[in-house]
Amino acid sequence: MVKKVDHIAIAVKDIEQATTFYKQLGLDVSAVEEVPDQKVRVAFIPIGETHIELVEPMSKDSPISAFLEKRGEGLHHICLETDQIDHTVEHLQEQGVRMIDKSPRTGSRQTRIAFVHPKANAGVLTELVEHPDDKQSH
Ligand code: ZN
Repeated sequence: MVKKVDHIAIAVKDIEQATTFYKQLGLDVSAVEEVPDQKVRVAFIPIGETHIELVEPMSKDSPISAFLEKRGEGLHHICLETDQIDHTVEHLQEQGVRMIDKSPRTGSRQTRIAFVHPKANAGVLTELVEHPDDKQSH
């Protein structure tokens, strides 16, 4: 079952500059983290049950660099939380939904993730995530 919007990720050129707006809103911004695996720096802004993730490329060969060059700053992807990612991915494929990841892979913080092709959702790259504590035992 899809439970909520886990996060909304925005591609930015300068993460410190991009946090200004959220600080002006009075929101707390996490410390900036480097994710060398994906060649990005990220900052999280918790808002209610979800959060905004700002993503800045660490190098020219980062996938985010390519995105910024092509489309400029803006919405990069949305992420929906599911409690059974295997089932969700299988169910989507049965209905002919185009997936980037045909089976879930390991994400950060022991999550399991899978990306749906943007063509399946009006041009919006969509991530599915299952958190380790969501896993139902059966
Ligand atoms: Zn994400």
